[in-house]
Amino acid sequence: MKTLERTLAIIKPDAVRKHAIGNIIEQLERNGFHILAMKILEISKHQAGQFYAVHAHRPFYNSLTDFMSSGPIVVLALERENAVADLRKLMGTTNPADAAEGTIRKRWATNIEQNAIHGSDADESARFELSYFFAGYELTG
Ligand code: ATP
Ligand code: MG
Repeated sequence: MKTLERTLAIIKPDAVRKHAIGNIIEQLERNGFHILAMKILEISKHQAGQFYAVHAHRPFYNSLTDFMSSGPIVVLALERENAVADLRKLMGTTNPADAAEGTIRKRWATNIEQNAIHGSDADESARFELSYFFAGYELTG
């Protein structure tokens, strides 16, 4: 039997500023991702820091958290078979210079930091990230 998996995607502030929300959501749906829950919101630098806590010791952490709190973001709880790995494939590489044709970052990312979209990188991070933005009652599908 095929198992459904959940993952968290974020349309980052650069893509929201480019009015790419609709195009990115269309691409997610066309690729079979079911949207369980979605919201548009702004997060503080502190909240961005909590969300990206695994990167706290990286040189780009300060700049990344400034960027992620620089304007509205769209957070999406997605469901599909193999959702975590396949969303990462659809996103493309972190650095858009290396991203494959047809990926979201190839089309919308500005640079390695302002790269349009986030996707959880493992099942365990997906659980943390979904619970960071959504309450249980919002994820009933
Ligand atoms: P995300 O976690 O946002 O889905 P990712 O998993 O492809 O992206 P990570 O290594 O987890 O990449 O980095 C998190 C985010 O930090 C990147 O998406 C990007 O916005 C920023 N970032 C990563 N590496 C760099 C870098 N060398 N310089 C500037 N920003 C960076
Ligand atoms: Mg990551």
